[in-house]
Amino acid sequence: MTRIFDRKMDMSATEKIICITCPMGCNLTVTHEGATVLRVNGNACKRGLKFAEGELTDPRRMVATTVRVRGGIHPLVPVYTEEPFPKPRIFELLDEIRRVEIEAPVTMNQVVLENALGEGIDVIASRDMPEAGT
Ligand code: SF4
Repeated sequence: MTRIFDRKMDMSATEKIICITCPMGCNLTVTHEGATVLRVNGNACKRGLKFAEGELTDPRRMVATTVRVRGGIHPLVPVYTEEPFPKPRIFELLDEIRRVEIEAPVTMNQVVLENALGEGIDVIASRDMPEAGT
């Protein structure tokens, strides 16, 4: 004899994550089924919901580091990604940036690495770096 259960199986899971969209750092409890968010608790605003959805489908982070400069008043210039970068590729990105060396003078917002790793995101300088001795 075969028994047929018509009760729907609950395939949902719950994750606890911290929303890093703003300094409030809300503790979110996210109930989801695969990449589909069913419910978010603990968010003080709607952006927490968007953050939770992004974390499940395409987690990204802003990346800030430095790039070597030849002939500048300092040997390094601070740089950052113009948009949040795919989280799983951040170490690969940092390796790529480590190989970059640019010539002074550098101007703020100058692109120092275009279309990083083919992700369509530029890495840009966050300050001017004049030539040494000028
Ligand atoms: S849920 Fe809203 S208030 Fe809370 S950390 Fe995210 S953006 Fe900030």
